[in-house]
Formats: sequence, structure tokens, C-alpha cells
Amino acid sequence: MSNVLSLEALLDIQTPSPLQCIEIAPKQSVYCKRDDLLHPIISGNKWRKLKPILERAVASDVKHIGSFGGAYSNHLHALGFACTRLGIKFTAIVRAHPQSPLTPTLKDLNKWGASLKFVSREEYQLKTKHCYLTQIQQTFNIEMLIPEGGATASSLGGIACMMEEIHIQHPQAFDLILLPVASGATMAGIIHYIQKHQLQTKVLGVAVLKGQGYLEELVINLVQSHLNDDNPGVAEFNYRPCTDQHTPPKYQYRVNWEIIHRSDFHASGYAKTNALQLAFRQQFFVQHGFTLDKVYNTKSFFALNQLLSEKSLDHFTHKMILHTGGLQGDRANFD
Ligand SMILES: *Cc1c(COP(=O)(O)O)cnc(C)c1O
Repeated sequence: MSNVLSLEALLDIQTPSPLQCIEIAPKQSVYCKRDDLLHPIISGNKWRKLKPILERAVASDVKHIGSFGGAYSNHLHALGFACTRLGIKFTAIVRAHPQSPLTPTLKDLNKWGASLKFVSREEYQLKTKHCYLTQIQQTFNIEMLIPEGGATASSLGGIACMMEEIHIQHPQAFDLILLPVASGATMAGIIHYIQKHQLQTKVLGVAVLKGQGYLEELVINLVQSHLNDDNPGVAEFNYRPCTDQHTPPKYQYRVNWEIIHRSDFHASGYAKTNALQLAFRQQFFVQHGFTLDKVYNTKSFFALNQLLSEKSLDHFTHKMILHTGGLQGDRANFD
């Protein structure tokens, strides 16, 4: 535990992040977990997911970390900054053309002394293949290679820390927790916590990309592998792997969870947006005084607002939405 505290103290991470009550629609109060306020750079769920990984890296004196991401990646940005502060060498495998102008995210990484390796879209697809990872690790002499988005089974433990904070801040369990979903690790962490503590909480994920079936499978696999970490050899989980991408699978699952795939929410794809969502984001800022990033939180808060006005959430009394941070990524140009 002292290790945990010292790493957060070392990096000036402000925990617990505030749990704030906001009024989204008239007479509709929703709590918002402000993980965007954890740190000016290592923001939001990227810190939560990296915490267990970096604790292990520091404890075992890892000197060189590598990871994957796009040119605007919140994960590479958070990890690059943490590594420079911890005196760990960092290599970023970036899905981008070496000749294209550096994004603000990549400029920051350069400034922090990261080594950038540009790979094509095709090569980037290999990022989960074992032989490719071994090759990358050997070529660049990387000691610890972290998957894209920090989505590992151990990352789920960092999400549990966030859930513990919420429990202290609001001892009555929420009926509904809403969040954006991309790699599924944050959602998997919340589901795992709820399962472990047997809470009656529904977890509602908002897909920020087109990925029906695919995202569910990511979540299930992460929860499953984390359970195996907890209790080696005990797989007491009931689940059915998704085999058909086109039919939403019916999961036999003790935790009530669901990912919503609506085109008015994901806006046709990752990092895509539309005029309606941008107007919502602007109005949200005027009304509440804090910013939603365009890639993740504009979509989930827009979804919350829409579902409330459609009266689909009326049967939930205590509702919470997670602000996952990610504002640095907004320095992108959207067309
Ligand atoms: C990465 C990211 C997400 C998605 O979280 P997953 O755990 O990958 O599903 C959501 N919000 C922000 C700000 C992110 O950077």
C-alpha cells in the first residue's frame, strides 16, 4: 500500500478525484466522477489503468517500457509523461506516417525524451500477435511492453481503486454507472468490482466506435483474465464467447451490463463527431463549467442526456457517469 501511495505522490496524482452532483436535464441529478481532474497530463482512466502496471515496473526496476498507440493517443501521452518522471526510457510504437507533421501529442512525447517508432496501419494490426511483440521487444531492447490503451488484466485493479474511492464518497451503491468504451478495460474493471462486491449496479457502456460484438468480447476476455489472476485455477464465471459478430450474444452473467451501439452516439466511428454533438459539448461547458473531450466523453454524456430525455433511465434512482479525462487528445483537428 505504501508503494501505491508513493507512486501517486511522486507523480502528483490527486486522488480521490471529486464526485460531483450535476443536473443534466431538469430535475435529473447525476453524479459525475471527475477523473479528468486526477492530473493535468496523466489524465483519467489512463492513470487508473497504468497504475498497477507502473507499480510493477518500479518494483522490478524496469528501465525501458514500450507501448502502442495512434498519433493522438491519450495512453501514449500519459505513459510517456509518467516514464520521464520516473526515469524510465520510453519507446512509443505509433500508427502514423513518419513524414506526416507531428501532432501535439507526439511533440510532447519528443519533449519528454520518448523514442518514436512509426509503423504503417498494416504493421500496427500485428500489435497483439505474440511473434511480432517478441520481435519488437528484442529489436528495441524493451523490458516491458504494454498493450494499446493499457488494456491488461492487471489494469482492472486500478479501476477497482477508483471504485473504492466512489464507495467512500457515496456509500450507497449507484443503480447505474455510465461510461465510454473503446478497449473495454475500464468497463471490465467496473464489472469485476461489482461482481466481487455483489452490487446491484447496472453498468452501461457507450460504444465510441462501431464494434457490436467485438467490444463485448473484449470486455468479457478482460474480466475473465483478471478473475484468473485473482484465483488461479478458478474460473467460476459464466460466459459465452461471441462467435457471430452480427448477432448480439446473450451473456449469462451475474453483473447486469450492456454496451449501447447507437450511431447517434458513436457518430459513425472512432474520433468522428457531428454538429449535434459539438453543439451539445459547447452547451455542456456553458452550463457546467467543465470540458468534455470529443472522442470519448462528448459521446457518453450526449448519450446520457439523450437517454434521460427518452425516459429510458427513469427506473434508476442513483446514477453516476464517469468522466474519463482525455482532453489533450482534443488538440486534434476534426474535419
Ligand atoms: C482510452 C480512453 C477511454 C476508453 O477506455 P477503455 O478502457 O479503452 O475502454 C475513454 N476515455 C478516455 C478519455 C480515454 O482516453
